[in-house]
Amino acid sequence: MRVCKFGGAALRDGEGFRRVKEIAAEDGSRQIIVPSAPGRRDGGDEKITDLLYACQTAAEAGRGFGHLFDRIAGRYREIAAALRLPAPDDDLREIFGGLRWGASPAWAASRGEWLCGRLLAAYLEMPFVDAASVIRFDAAGNLLERDTMELLRRMPVPCVLPGFYGADGLGTVHTFPRGGSDVTAALAAAARNADVYENWKDVRGVFAADPELVPDAQCVTAMSYRELRALSALGARVLAEEAVAPVRRAGVPLTVRSFLEPRHPGTRIGPAFGGQPAAEAIGVTGRRGLRLYRLERLDGGETLARSALEAGLPLFKLAVDADALCLALRGDEPLPEALQALSERVWQHRAASVSAVGEGLRRADGAARFAAALSAAGVRAYSLHMPPDGLYVTAVIPEADFARSVTALYDAFIRR
Ligand code: ASP
Repeated sequence: MRVCKFGGAALRDGEGFRRVKEIAAEDGSRQIIVPSAPGRRDGGDEKITDLLYACQTAAEAGRGFGHLFDRIAGRYREIAAALRLPAPDDDLREIFGGLRWGASPAWAASRGEWLCGRLLAAYLEMPFVDAASVIRFDAAGNLLERDTMELLRRMPVPCVLPGFYGADGLGTVHTFPRGGSDVTAALAAAARNADVYENWKDVRGVFAADPELVPDAQCVTAMSYRELRALSALGARVLAEEAVAPVRRAGVPLTVRSFLEPRHPGTRIGPAFGGQPAAEAIGVTGRRGLRLYRLERLDGGETLARSALEAGLPLFKLAVDADALCLALRGDEPLPEALQALSERVWQHRAASVSAVGEGLRRADGAARFAAALSAAGVRAYSLHMPPDGLYVTAVIPEADFARSVTALYDAFIRR
């Protein structure tokens, strides 16, 4: 059995719904379909979720929101008309009424997935399961994972299960953070021990580098969960950790595929490789906007490190010497005064990080090759680090050298 999640890009219009139907119909094992709310159709367009939040804000402030709501209603009516489904007027009236009578932001936003799911279920001729009945939160809005798993195990399939929201024991609706439909689908795939969790996007899969920096970056065929985790922790914009953890724990493989090119196999992410040796590196990534500090104090490295950890800084890397502490921090926050006061000298620089990720890096003498590639590109790294398990190599470099470094590492490890 497969669990398929379709994002807002896939469900942005009637044409998108048609593609989803084709994909769902092509393989009878696609039995749980998890939709997001309709997304943007073009640059000037708005996501339904954003419009719903805007309606709720206006309603709460006592302002009129009819003009905003008309845009939402128009989108759903257009989709229904394109699919030759009856206009969802009763459902729209219910949402409008809820907003007027003081709905919470979570309830308002959740209606995007709810109504999209209802339309999709009608169009696919599959039963609809309201996520409020199977995704369980506590009253404070924290997911109750064990209860949710149990409810999902008993859920009738096949079905359309809208993403992003659930409810507490009293029926109050709560949502996951933005993009949370990925989490709903991951929970369903884990609970039902699916053969695979298919996450359908408007890109082919996970790219071996950011296509903005490496325009011909290839799509990674296969990687391990550990590699995916490292790639996203080191800067790549891939699936959020909460969306991966349930399937990783359950040992369910995940594929990222394109609804625009359903024949393309996309990227397969699994617990391990089927006996094949891991690729040397599966991707190159990085992070701009770091600040690199070297704080000096005779015999005070550890004192400085303790103080830095207590300050809860947005830490990217930390290295301690006898007489100094090196910190790479994300963002532009100034260093806390207490830490500066402890230091005899503070040296700082705008920096970026670049990393290569791959289970095979250790075997392939990755750190030496990584350093050689940067050096050949004329980049002088401030620091270089490979953890003992060899899963990645990362360097902190001058920020101005970022793009050049990513290209050089891509050429050295992926293109070859
Ligand atoms: N519709 C929600 C959002 O825009 C959730 C999702 O797309 O997964 O964040």
